[in-house]
Amino acid sequence: MECCLCKEEIEVNEAGWAEGHNAEPVVVEGRCCTKCNYFKVLPARMGFHPSKVKDMMFDLMMYEEEAKKFFKGEIEEKDLVYGKLRKD
Ligand SMILES: [Zn+2]
Repeated sequence: MECCLCKEEIEVNEAGWAEGHNAEPVVVEGRCCTKCNYFKVLPARMGFHPSKVKDMMFDLMMYEEEAKKFFKGEIEEKDLVYGKLRKD
């Protein structure tokens, strides 16, 4: 399946899901790849103008170490399955 935003092939994830992510509100009923989801769709949902996304990503990278300390002991990557908290 082709990403409706960058036109590249949508990757198949670890669970075998090949239909990517919901691209709303950027494209109504569109499906997009993971990169476009993080760089275009999620920022749009949070109200960021597309021209500000690059600045936002640089800010996030600059604060990566602080973010790791901030979230330490709350949610660890090993507690997540496909972005959701493990139930067991
Ligand atoms: Zn894409």
